[in-house]
Amino acid sequence: MSTVMAIAMAVVMFSAQRSFPRSVGGLREWVIGLVGLILASVLFALNGLVPSWLLLPVANSVFLWGAGMQMIGTQLFYGVRSSWWLFHLSWLLGLVVMGIWLYWKPNFPMRVAMYSFLMLALTFQQFLVIIRFGERHLSAWFFAALSLMLSATLLHRGVMALQAGGAGYDAMHGGPNHSMYLAVLSFMTLLLPVGFMTVATRCLQKLLEQRSNRDPLTAVLNRRGFAEVHAQENLRARRQGTPLAVMSLDLDFFKAINDRHGHAVGDQVLVDVAGVISSALRGSDAVARFGGEEFVVLLADTHQARAELVAQRIQFALRQPRPGQSLPSYTLSIGIACQLDPAEDLDSLLLRSDRALYRAKQLGRDRIEVACEALAMPPAPVLPVARLYT
Ligand code: GH3
Ligand code: MG
Ligand code: MG
Repeated sequence: MSTVMAIAMAVVMFSAQRSFPRSVGGLREWVIGLVGLILASVLFALNGLVPSWLLLPVANSVFLWGAGMQMIGTQLFYGVRSSWWLFHLSWLLGLVVMGIWLYWKPNFPMRVAMYSFLMLALTFQQFLVIIRFGERHLSAWFFAALSLMLSATLLHRGVMALQAGGAGYDAMHGGPNHSMYLAVLSFMTLLLPVGFMTVATRCLQKLLEQRSNRDPLTAVLNRRGFAEVHAQENLRARRQGTPLAVMSLDLDFFKAINDRHGHAVGDQVLVDVAGVISSALRGSDAVARFGGEEFVVLLADTHQARAELVAQRIQFALRQPRPGQSLPSYTLSIGIACQLDPAEDLDSLLLRSDRALYRAKQLGRDRIEVACEALAMPPAPVLPVARLYT
């Protein structure tokens, strides 16, 4: 049964490996690991046809090899350095264990104990990786719990075999410990790959979400991502009665940069400006590229004074030389709109900030304009420019 489950999971994981993006690592190693486990089961099934002195060392070693490959797959998935030393040590020691307790001093419980501990080293290492690097999410908890359960079963089996020390070990004649071990191992052949697929699918889901919400060139939000963040912040602002502000930013004479330096340099300028804007914001603010060379910023819990301060900070940062970079200098025009009425929607806010931006363009570019309605706000203290830059 467990071999059939392993074959089914190998097919599922193989097809996932072919369709998931490369950044979801470890799937290939999990497939190879499952093939190792299937091969080991086939070898065990040949018992009787092939002399056991030859079959047992090879089959057990291949089994450890497969389990080791799964551990490597998990490490690759989490971007952790692969423990190839543990992988090779475990299957090589598997052969040594056989050499000692099958040929030299035949002792079945010792073999059981040593194999259990070798498997334990692999599964516990996997458990540690998940606990240390896994996301705080149900998928990772599930995968970690399965690894821990298998580790505990292997530890129990190894200790029982050592305690028995010989004749009394019930694994030799199918006692309850042996039955429990076989049941856990069979289920784990299916459940561990399911656990891994759960975290891999979760990773894929986050990746796709990120792709659909982000601009591929600059990695800042796109329109859809911005609308989502605005919806959340708007709710919070309504609950807490705090003001929201929006900025529209447009590069000045960007077409000329493209014409003079080429489209590739134009793209680098877009990446640069996205970085400069992002670094002027707080964690609760958001920046998006709305297409072309137009960016939009959402400023949470921000009145007009801070919005102007942030805009000035961005323009100041743009004038500073950036180490290791030789892009043409460029400027930004910025329009600001502050949400006065909590019921005001995103479209209306953007319309007002765009109008302010248009005015900034008309008045000569490289400047900041505030939407007229926002000027009706109670006067907020604006710091002198000299103090803003210190
Ligand atoms: P203004 O100061 O009035 O904003 O002038 P502008 O030249 O910046 O604006 P205009 O709308 O005339 O030109 C925008 C240019 O942006 C034209 C288009 O080729 C370029 N552009 C749009 N998207 C991209 C992009 O993804 N990469 C690059 N390199 N250029 C882009
Ligand atoms: Mg422009
Ligand atoms: Mg434009």
